Amino acid sequence: MSSIEDKLEFDRKHIWHPYTSLTKPLTCHHVDSADGVHINLSSGEKCVDGMSSWWCAIHGYSNSELNKAALEQIGKMSHVMFGGLTHDPAIKLVEKLLKLVDDKLDCCFLADSGSVSVEVSLKMAIQYCHANGQPQKDRFLTISNGYHGDTFGAMSVCDPINSMHTLYSGYMSDKHIFARTPQCKFNEEWDPKDVVDFEQKLISNHKNIAAVIIEPILQGAGGMRMYHPMYLKRVRQLCDEYGILLILDEIATGFGRTGKLFAYEHSDIVPDILLVGKALTGGYMTLAALTCQRFVAEMIGNDPKTGGSMMHGPTFMGNPLACAVAIKSLELIETGEWKKQCKFIESILGTELMRLENCSIVKDIRILGAVGVVELNLPVDMGWFQKLFVTKHNVWIRPFNRLVYIMPPYIIKEKELLQLTNAVVDVVQCFSQKV
Ligand SMILES: *Cc1c(COP(=O)(O)O)cnc(C)c1O
Repeated sequence: MSSIEDKLEFDRKHIWHPYTSLTKPLTCHHVDSADGVHINLSSGEKCVDGMSSWWCAIHGYSNSELNKAALEQIGKMSHVMFGGLTHDPAIKLVEKLLKLVDDKLDCCFLADSGSVSVEVSLKMAIQYCHANGQPQKDRFLTISNGYHGDTFGAMSVCDPINSMHTLYSGYMSDKHIFARTPQCKFNEEWDPKDVVDFEQKLISNHKNIAAVIIEPILQGAGGMRMYHPMYLKRVRQLCDEYGILLILDEIATGFGRTGKLFAYEHSDIVPDILLVGKALTGGYMTLAALTCQRFVAEMIGNDPKTGGSMMHGPTFMGNPLACAVAIKSLELIETGEWKKQCKFIESILGTELMRLENCSIVKDIRILGAVGVVELNLPVDMGWFQKLFVTKHNVWIRPFNRLVYIMPPYIIKEKELLQLTNAVVDVVQCFSQKV
């Protein structure tokens, strides 16, 4: 199998890609390499990356410092089990992470992917309630349009329609509670009525709610919606008032993406449990982390039923190679450069994407930090969009449903960023003429 065509043919026949059919696959591009903000396709295009490989590659690809950290760690050890053993990469990473998050968050569980960290957070909340003598608390409250991952527990708190809950009913828990998606936008004047549905659902079910789980400020894959900081502030107040744990899923938003290091800072609150992943390793490998307040860990630690254990322990927990790269990624974050970079990206997105304001098929344009979203009033034709993006504009942008959105690596320069925004403007305009 030597030609790219042969390899793509093999891929089409045998390999699933995310959310695609094996028998009727969508087009796939063969990547030769990636460096800086470019994804280099074997077909010759050097595409400017507008996705950061789904929120991850914030420092760009093949970053020399991250490469060096990985190589150095491989020379020592790539992996050892975390049961009964520990090592510098895990210790240093957690030390750094705990310095970045709010001081109240000071216990850490290392997980091997975002979805797994969500599972651990749900189990942690349930264990907390059991240890607290409230085993009847076994439901979670969240909002519609959320996304928390693809494993069953995580899926059970994702948007019920997007995640096709009906398909898995009978197997997956369907007892969780979904409040209306926040309508009040990030920049709008706050309307206290926005949180009333959430408030009512929390009050009428509070005796059975173990925790609220929510993506702060920016909902990712469930619709790329940006909501008002006061909404989250009220969620925190209500959780406090009714003794309900608050889990914030910052797997997408963490490490500066929304213009604050963590999105919860927009609301000036602190969660009881915080989840990070994706950009944690700068997009090099899979690693996620849960941090929580000590009272949560202490409650669980005092439960005689479990001997105080948190009942989870993935094989690749605390993987030294992933931790070593994550340490370096956090060091790059510590320089504070991301603040300038995100502000710069935000300002360019603000002027450039707004050129679509009067386009007939554009419903909404929203920008927050280093994220720009163009919502259309009809679904995109993904194959058509991607072909134009790649062949005409040499950019890598993957729209879904009605959303064309970009969240480039923080290191992107003006020229490359304009290549992305020009591509979005042009392709959306072409699409409006086609439909
Ligand atoms: C991607 C994502 C997850 C799941 O993370 P995986 O590493 O893909 O399992 C969970 N929550 C949010 C908000 C995400 O964006």
